[in-house]
Amino acid sequence: MSLLKLFISIALCTVVLPACGSKKSEKKPESVVYFVHGDPRRLLKGSTVNKSTFITKENRDNFNGFHLSGVSFFREREPQMKKENFAQVEKENSTSLKDDESAALETLPYSFIEDGDELLYEAAGNPKDSFKLSFKPVNDGYELVGLKASSGPDEQAVTVEHYSLKDDGNAFSFLVSWQSAEEGRTLVSITFTSGAVTKPLIQRSSLYNYILGHFPIKWEEDITINLCGSPSTLQQSTVKNSLVAWTRDAQRKPNDSTKEVAYEVKTEFAPFSDLNQHCIYLVSNFRAENSQEFVIAGLTIPQINTSSWELIDSDVMIFMDIVGDGFTGQANETMTHELGHFFGLGHEFEEEGHDHYRSIMGYSDGTQNVTQGDFDAIRALYNQTLSLK
Ligand SMILES: [Zn+2]
Repeated sequence: MSLLKLFISIALCTVVLPACGSKKSEKKPESVVYFVHGDPRRLLKGSTVNKSTFITKENRDNFNGFHLSGVSFFREREPQMKKENFAQVEKENSTSLKDDESAALETLPYSFIEDGDELLYEAAGNPKDSFKLSFKPVNDGYELVGLKASSGPDEQAVTVEHYSLKDDGNAFSFLVSWQSAEEGRTLVSITFTSGAVTKPLIQRSSLYNYILGHFPIKWEEDITINLCGSPSTLQQSTVKNSLVAWTRDAQRKPNDSTKEVAYEVKTEFAPFSDLNQHCIYLVSNFRAENSQEFVIAGLTIPQINTSSWELIDSDVMIFMDIVGDGFTGQANETMTHELGHFFGLGHEFEEEGHDHYRSIMGYSDGTQNVTQGDFDAIRALYNQTLSLK
């Protein structure tokens, strides 16, 4: 147990998931707040943003029936990191669910509704934990101008930083910001996914933890991950080696088929909320803490369609001021851990009724490497081992 380990990761989770934290009775998507120091829009540094809305009079009804699948808040505040023990951290970041409650996750369908000059996107009846989005007409489309949480006070006027519509039309996201005297600067991404395909959530694994507890949620589409930005040669080789570490399953037989992972460095890239690009961002001059007040070294933000139960987007942030000299050209522990989340693995902690195994996905396991247990978890998920394309 090294001090470094205390800085490792923490968050998988932004979203949706009851898996995020120990609130096992949550049945609806929940939002998670990450606290940062300085302007959270620094997270968009170097990215190419799209400020043109994709919602038009012609296509807007195509988005009726979508459901909220993720909300991530990044909000400014003073550093408040506390020292606590691993048992506490692991409890608060547990991805495991001892029962099948997540199977009951409700997916509330949202629709566009005209309201005078405005257009609203909301769940019928504004139920608890839902959001109401306000749009105003511009030219031929609709621009997002306001956001209101059902539990919150008044509508918040927002500035859109990035619009994203997934190429297959089955998901979209808004990245918005605002500033208020009470709350400082805030950056929020909000994602909706299609409810057109509904699959039962089955095949609960008793052996492994995935990003939604024991439910195996994976990429159905081809896996693509990019290192986005202008990384140094050393940073490039650290990321590449961390990625390669996930492909070295000793149990793979020569003729086994593999799930290919396409990887490249992208100097032109979109913000993390973008659904068509899955990036690793090496973020400098930035510090994030989660709601439990732990400093975060790495963060993976997965987006799951909670109707078809598949991963539709995921992005990884590595906070270089915390990881610091760990980027040596060798596989880095934080990087490797976050890639585990990217592929679909959850946290591997001591847990009742589950055979804990030594894992890069634990915090206190004392391993800096992908273990055979981790490879087994991947193989159980994809029925294949991973390989680099
Ligand atoms: Zn983690």
